[in-house]
Amino acid sequence: MRIVSKAAAMQKCALQWKRRGVRVGFVPTMGYLHAGHLSLVHAARKRVGKTGIVVVSIYVNPTQFAPTEDLAKYPRDLKRDLKLCRDADADVVFTPNDAEMYHRWGEAPDEPARGDARLTGFSTYVVEEKLSRSMEGAARPTHFRGVTTVVAKLFNLVLPDFAVFGQKDFQQAAIIKRMVADLNFPVKIIVAPTLREADGLAMSSRNKFLDAEQRAQAVILFHALRAASLAVKKEPVSAARLKADLKEFFTAAPLARLDYVEFFNPETLAPATQVKRGTQMALAVFIGKTRLIDNAQL
Ligand code: AMP
Repeated sequence: MRIVSKAAAMQKCALQWKRRGVRVGFVPTMGYLHAGHLSLVHAARKRVGKTGIVVVSIYVNPTQFAPTEDLAKYPRDLKRDLKLCRDADADVVFTPNDAEMYHRWGEAPDEPARGDARLTGFSTYVVEEKLSRSMEGAARPTHFRGVTTVVAKLFNLVLPDFAVFGQKDFQQAAIIKRMVADLNFPVKIIVAPTLREADGLAMSSRNKFLDAEQRAQAVILFHALRAASLAVKKEPVSAARLKADLKEFFTAAPLARLDYVEFFNPETLAPATQVKRGTQMALAVFIGKTRLIDNAQL
């Protein structure tokens, strides 16, 4: 397994693979890897076979964090991640730093502190303007601009034939698909299922912030998805009614604070007024300072 930390070196490798006609699968991550991430690496390996290349990137992208968010605290353990990537049969791990990804990162900012104030040599962004307005985009207004920008950059450096994203970040996957279609990236987007802990909690790097009591109550996200699924099994229910019922449902977990719950069309992300089987549900929940998200098709 090769570790590449320079953007130019990554792109040089990718161009050589292209010339040789080698198939490349790509899994972008922010590291602190868990079995959910590794399932994406396995999915990529399965598609490229033995002759293709699997690239995993590990990069905590600062432009997708707002100044108030947990960028500095985001968990990191590169040594462990590299071992997990090696065991999962990745060929290349791309581990750029901020200076590699955003020129002149860290030079004296000439603006007041903002999420991207230190990006003094960088001023081009990719912005998706429809799907990124609701849910995560409403709660975190500059988040998806950071995501689309870094993914576009990573696609230009890795030149993959396909990239694998997790259903866990449903809206993110939808936005990336839209970006790829709108901007003609020659990259196929694969969306892989959410891996869960034994009790149903979706695996997430942020779960590590939960203490024992919080961890026990965090399963409420999964239970809420299950309860909603059950509620619409026989007949449609109005979204307003279901939201009210779910707010009530959350009183069972006093450490959890519901940030949003939404029902929408899984293709267009258009909000649903009537919730039925096949409607997508997504929710975000604060447990202490930790914000968790989950989603499912009901
Ligand atoms: P992150 O490191 O959180 O940015 O996630 C990197 C990729 O892994 C994204 O495409 C996520 O959707 C995906 N991912 C995160 N958690 C899971 C999970 N529990 N199961 C499957 N994929 C996941």
